[in-house]
Amino acid sequence: MPDTLLTPLISYYALAIFVLIILSAFFSSAETALTAASKPLIHQLAKRGETRAVQLLSMINSQTRVIATLLLGNNAVNVIATSLATALCIQLWNENGVLIASISMTTLLIIFAEILPKSLAAMRPHQWALIISPFVHSLYLVLSPLTFLFAHLLSFLAYPLGLNPRSPHTSQNTDNEDELLGVIDMHGQNPQNREEHVMLRSILELEEITVSDVMTHRSQVDMFDLNEPAADIISFVVNSKRTRIPFYAGSQENIIGVLHVKNLLEHIAQNDTTFMSKKAIVQLSSPPWFIPENTNLKNQLLAFRKRRKHAAIIIDEYSAFVGIVTLEDILEEIVGNIDDELDIPLPGVQRIPDGSCIVDGHVTLRDLSRELDWNIDDGKASTIAGYILHQARVIPKEGQVFAFNGFLFEIIARDHNRIAKIKISPLPKS
Ligand code: ATP
Repeated sequence: MPDTLLTPLISYYALAIFVLIILSAFFSSAETALTAASKPLIHQLAKRGETRAVQLLSMINSQTRVIATLLLGNNAVNVIATSLATALCIQLWNENGVLIASISMTTLLIIFAEILPKSLAAMRPHQWALIISPFVHSLYLVLSPLTFLFAHLLSFLAYPLGLNPRSPHTSQNTDNEDELLGVIDMHGQNPQNREEHVMLRSILELEEITVSDVMTHRSQVDMFDLNEPAADIISFVVNSKRTRIPFYAGSQENIIGVLHVKNLLEHIAQNDTTFMSKKAIVQLSSPPWFIPENTNLKNQLLAFRKRRKHAAIIIDEYSAFVGIVTLEDILEEIVGNIDDELDIPLPGVQRIPDGSCIVDGHVTLRDLSRELDWNIDDGKASTIAGYILHQARVIPKEGQVFAFNGFLFEIIARDHNRIAKIKISPLPKS
């Protein structure tokens, strides 16, 4: 070819190759940005009404088809650029042109259309994704017939492998929850965020904790027998530090109501008398709300809200009374101890100056760990007595001493087969 024709041809080809490499870089960076952009962050921006974020979120939600669009564009420009470069190099260097074009295009594409744009996009994925989203979206719409075909082809190929790309993966929910836990843990690495970290984690763990883990055990519940004289009942209720007092007829297994102290005091004030019939006591009270001991805290929290109640009576599988749980017990799992004016320091725990504690067997492991900042838990038992039984696998005798998980447990008192009192001392770290 004459030199006069060759010079402009080289310029056109070079310009076209240059433009195609830029396009290829754009597709590569878009692919990285769209896959690396934080979905929760984009979701938040979309909720605030940012149009680009809304558009981007819709694309992230149909990621397979968007990625197919970008790959289609990327491969098309790479192939065209390489073909042009090969044609140009053959014109310039005859048969050596193919080798020269292959080496130079591979180098150019890897550096300028892959590594560089992808690395840059990975530094600010969501900002870049927001900038390019209108262009990618337009391309996505234009190429949608093709990507639609690819999506069907993918389904066709995936079914024999036991995968269904159109339905969410079965472990998706677990993955999301683990991802959320991971984000919370990373957030909590900064000491300034410690408190938020603990609270956020606790909220996610509510489903794993049951009401029996946080309840007040039946032996500690202020309750009365309706068969007692009415004057004694009133005196007991008024002197109790509790607001909701369950009552029974004859046996604790026969709870028939829960009396709210405020209702009683209102009645006394209105009638100007402390004399009350038992029938009046029953009328002032509300029926007991029984829940199974394995109800998880999340469900119970929702149930409290739905029923607009603050306390429930826990029963076991044989309908035997186990304890009481209130809204405060659940909230304490999230925010830590909430002591009001009348709250008693954890009943059944007596601190000793040498750093150990004498603890009643019914005290729950969660209350104990929170009160003393100790971590005694095996994920199985609810109370400290249950924990020792579970760990020792025998009914221990008085005076027996066990060492588990960094603590020394000395059995101080037994009530029949029940471990009544234990001395717990943390073992030295070494
Ligand atoms: P309020 O704060 O609404 O006046 P309260 O102080 O009596 O009520 P909550 O704040 O709901 O009770 O719960 C505080 C703690 O007391 C919880 O651990 C709960 O299990 C326990 N509790 C609630 N009622 C009783 C009761 N009748 N007997 C023993 N413990 C109770």
